[in-house]
Amino acid sequence: MRGGLAEPGTVTGGKPLPLIDDDTRAYWAGLARGELLLQHCRACGHVQFYQRALCGRCLAASIESRPASGRGSIYSFSTVHRPPSAEFKDDVPYTVVLVELSEGPRMISTLVDTRHETVRIGQPVEIVYDRVSPEITFPRFRRVAATPAG
Ligand SMILES: [Zn+2]
Repeated sequence: MRGGLAEPGTVTGGKPLPLIDDDTRAYWAGLARGELLLQHCRACGHVQFYQRALCGRCLAASIESRPASGRGSIYSFSTVHRPPSAEFKDDVPYTVVLVELSEGPRMISTLVDTRHETVRIGQPVEIVYDRVSPEITFPRFRRVAATPAG
């Protein structure tokens, strides 16, 4: 069968790629077309990330995926200066961020912009779709100018 699955062990630049399975297929397909999908519970309205079979708040199985705004703010961060493995030695320094999405859920990602010394908690960010293979597009973030609340 072609077109759907990343083969186990598929790498890009020596880095492992995530495996796509039935639970995550829609999520990765969304990213490939430029949509970060969040799950909305039809029973209680809870919004969650990552993809799960049940609502994390009320355990209802009635969940629908909707595209997120792609906007949020830096909830926490850590700049990595020492590569976790040899495949990442050309990437350092890079900043791992915990982004609080405007819809509420938090997700771990990395910043695409540099000037790591200026990263601060609370800075607004927006998603960047980093396509690394036909199947895999990573959701990453860049800092943006603050917009008026509204
Ligand atoms: Zn629920």
